[in-house]
Amino acid sequence: MTGATGRMGRTVIETAAGREDAAVVLAVNRGGGGEVAGVTVEPAADLADRLAAADADALVDFTGPESAVRYVDAAAEAGVPAVVGTTGFDDDQRAALRAASDRTPVLVAANFARGVQVLLSAVSELVERLPGYDVEVVERYHRRKAEAPSGTVERLLDRIADAGGPDRPVYGRQGDQERDDDEVGVHSIRAGDVVGENGVVFAGNHEVLEITQRAEDRGVFAAGAVDAAAWLAGRDPGWYEFDDVLAGD
Ligand code: NAD
Repeated sequence: MTGATGRMGRTVIETAAGREDAAVVLAVNRGGGGEVAGVTVEPAADLADRLAAADADALVDFTGPESAVRYVDAAAEAGVPAVVGTTGFDDDQRAALRAASDRTPVLVAANFARGVQVLLSAVSELVERLPGYDVEVVERYHRRKAEAPSGTVERLLDRIADAGGPDRPVYGRQGDQERDDDEVGVHSIRAGDVVGENGVVFAGNHEVLEITQRAEDRGVFAAGAVDAAAWLAGRDPGWYEFDDVLAGD
């Protein structure tokens, strides 16, 4: 587990501790130090050697984009599959993760909640079945989340555009101008302790249809990430999707 003392890292370690099919053999955070659920947190230096020494079946990363790329590279060097929950990658960082998947199995998901996978497929269908409706995306997270919009919104915007819906995101609308048909509004709320909510509003024809997934506990993401790690262990190098895990192939 990299990012072991972060909000998600702690939750993943606690989740694994309560499961029969998973155990944390190595917990690291950049400086090391401390304990989470009885597991000692080590520094992240020489990660490839530490992963090999711990005989890890998979790496789970919830850190930041730059460190996630470095840690996945270390996992590839050690021949350890990598599950990445970190969000906010730029194109170069995504390409680096893809490149690592030539050497080891890599699975990157912006949201490990099962309900979000259903939301993503439902949104494609709703766009197709509600042609001409205005589409707006609304997401809400705790006040300490730095990145906006959420990684899940990026996925939703791709699905909306791919299904033939509006493809021009307008972030946090302001000013004195009517919306255009090709706009998809994106609204990011950062407040309090909200774990995470992502939703889509469809409006037209004197009606409004809204669909929202609301995470009520970080445990939902942690459970999905541990499921992904258990599923990825022992696979061939390559690029995998969280949908593959849920399909149980
Ligand atoms: P957090 O800030 O609580 O924890 C991040 C941890 O990573 C910290 O312990 C920090 O020390 C470490 N870290 C950050 N940058 C680092 C770097 N450059 N080098 C080494 N260590 C570094 O954050 P969080 O709420 O746990 O979220 C972590 C990431 O996971 C974010 O990108 C967030 O958007 C994402 N996230 C994804 C999901 C999902 O389901 N995929 C769910 C929640 C959060």
